[in-house]
Parts: sequence; C-alpha cells; structure tokens
Amino acid sequence: MKLGIVGLPNVGKSTLFNAVTKAGAQSANYPFCTIDPNIGVVSVPDKRLKVLEEMYQSKSVIPTSINFYDIAGLVKGASKGEGLGNKFLSHIREVAAILHVVRCFEDSDVTHVDGSVDPERDVETIGLELIFSDIETIEKKMERSKKQAKTDKSLQEDMRILESIKERLEYGHSVREMDLSEKEESVTRELNLLSSKPVIYVANVSEEYISDDTLSNKYLEALQKIADAEGSAMIKVCAKIEEEISELEEEEKAMFLEDLGLETSGLDKLIQTSYELLGLITYLTAGPQEVRAWTIKKGTKAPQAAGKIHTDFERGFIRAEVTAFDDLVAAGSPVAAKEKGLVRLEGKDYVVKDGDVILFRFNV
Ligand code: GDP
Repeated sequence: MKLGIVGLPNVGKSTLFNAVTKAGAQSANYPFCTIDPNIGVVSVPDKRLKVLEEMYQSKSVIPTSINFYDIAGLVKGASKGEGLGNKFLSHIREVAAILHVVRCFEDSDVTHVDGSVDPERDVETIGLELIFSDIETIEKKMERSKKQAKTDKSLQEDMRILESIKERLEYGHSVREMDLSEKEESVTRELNLLSSKPVIYVANVSEEYISDDTLSNKYLEALQKIADAEGSAMIKVCAKIEEEISELEEEEKAMFLEDLGLETSGLDKLIQTSYELLGLITYLTAGPQEVRAWTIKKGTKAPQAAGKIHTDFERGFIRAEVTAFDDLVAAGSPVAAKEKGLVRLEGKDYVVKDGDVILFRFNV
C-alpha cells in the first residue's frame, strides 16, 4: 500500500516523513527543500505477531508494510508547472490515499509560504491544484476521444459524463465529494483522478495539543470542520515529537508516550486510520520458519487472500485452515486449538477476517 504525504512547503512534511521512515530526508526551514519524492517503508505494528512468534518459536517475523511517499513541491500553481511543478502531481496518481499535512502550529521561526497559519486557505490551495490537474486530465481525454466519438454512441455518453464531472470540478468540487454513479465511476476510473483519492488530514499541532484532547484551537477546529464536511478523516500529530519518538528504542518509546499521556504514537494512529479509510485488514500465517502479516481488502475471499502470498496458492487453492487469533491464544497452542475444534476448514467462498491465522492447502 502506498500513501502520499502532501502539503504546502514548511508545514512539517519532511519532519513527519523522517519520523515515519527514519529515512533521513532533509528537513530545513525553506521551501523546495525536498525535491524528489522520497519513498520510505514502514512496518505496520501488530502486537499479535509477537504472541505468535513465541507460540510457534518462529525463526523470523515479517510484519506487513506501508510505503510512504514524501511528495514535496506541491505549491500554488503546481498544476500550471510552477514551483517544481506538474511532476509532483503525477506521483500522487500512484498512491492509494493522500495524507495531507496541514500546519496548525505557530512558530515565528518557521516561515509560512503565504505569510500566516491558515488551515482553510492551505487546504484550498492544495485542493485546487488537484482539481486543476483533474480538469486538465479530463480535457486531454476528451480531446483524444473527440474524433472517435462522432461515430461511437457509447463514447458520446462517456463524453457527456466527463463534461458533467468537469463542470463540477470547475465549481471547485473534488471528485471524492461527488456522489458518482456506477457508470460515472467506471468512466473515470482509468483516469485515476487526483481529487478522487481518499484524504486523511494530518493536523500538525504543537506539543501541548497532542496529549490534551479537550484542548482545541481555531486551527484544529477549522480543519476538523473541513474534514467533516467532505467525510474525510483527520488526525492530529506533532511532527517534531514523532521525529523524537522515532529515534527511541521500544522500551523508551513506551515510557516517553506514557509521559505524554498517549497510548499510541501519531504514526501508529496514522497507520490505523489509513487502514480503516481504505477498508484494509490483516491476516496472519504462522509456523516455525516464519510468522507473517498480510494486508488485504475487507471482503477478500480465501483464494484471493492466498494469492497475496503466491499466485500458485490462488490457482491451486483447495482449502484454508483457519483459526481466529483470539481462539488460538485462548487454546494456548495450535495443537490444543485443533483438539478443541477451533480450527475451521474453509472453502473458496470464505471471506477472510481480520486476525485469522491461516494455513492454505493447495495443489501445485
Ligand atoms: P516541509 O517543507 O513541509 O517538508 O517542512 P519541514 O518538515 O521541513 O519543516 C519545516 C520547518 O518546520 C522545520 O524547521 C521544522 O523543524 C519545523 N517544524 C516541523 N514540525 C513542527 C512542529 O510540529 N512544531 C514546530 N514548532 N516546528 C515544526
């Protein structure tokens, strides 16, 4: 899964990116600092893996992972090639969801590109760039199809749909806010429009706001309102603190979080929220060789889930031997779980659930 971090310059993208990947991307107090989209891979924390590792005495543990793209250079005019321009917009096309970092902290030492902290204006600036880019994408598509549409009835219908979506975009509506019909969805799918991507607003707040949920400020409130209005998610983090947390060992990290009065780090919350937003779940495989987590879409059936491991598993699928993680823990061991009848044999129509521990049987 790929997530793209976007936001205006100097809002804390690189700081957050450093935190989540420990990749050491540059962070400096001036715009256009990070030029190439940096890619960082983070493991998805999952407490169940440790439990299974001990139970199976496994040699290795492989968590599932998320790729973060640090997509810098998105500024006013980017869709017209300004700043570092259009190139950045194309990176957004590849991501499953957008993490839009919005500055909600005051710090006179950190310059704001537009002179003041103002989440509403910042969200609109970025949002409009995505919309402008989508308008251009649609116009290009229509231009390409124009000739053929003269004689092709179904293409004419597609053109009408594109025209109507373009009109709504021109009014400043993003595609994700439009309630698209199935037909409209299918016409626009291949265009992979930027404003159709799910968004999580990441409010970058100063330290005091992350530990106290009752404490709000006008920036947070403004951003929450925007998120609510379009049905997007919002979470608050303090990028600076996240960066500090990322440098700590597990044990220190727990203590540090406790001192701050937090249960989880901002990154863990971010991953959790992304999972929910994208309708993702995790299933597990376990054995003496390896314990491993796999990410699938909610609603995925057993053969397709098996296909995540290997296409042969999907093609030759016979059955899945499934134990719910909680059942396995309650039984104490895989053998005990079997004796208690907690290992279920499931066929090709079985819909895999979060926390299923699965052994696939297949023909080669
Ligand atoms: P980017 O341009 O969006 O990637 O922003 P950076 O991550 O490079 O951050 C720009 C400046 O803001 C740097 O000097 C950071 O140290 C500072 N900064 C980032 N997050 C915070 C924060 O939560 N609080 C404060 N006070 N400064 C921050």
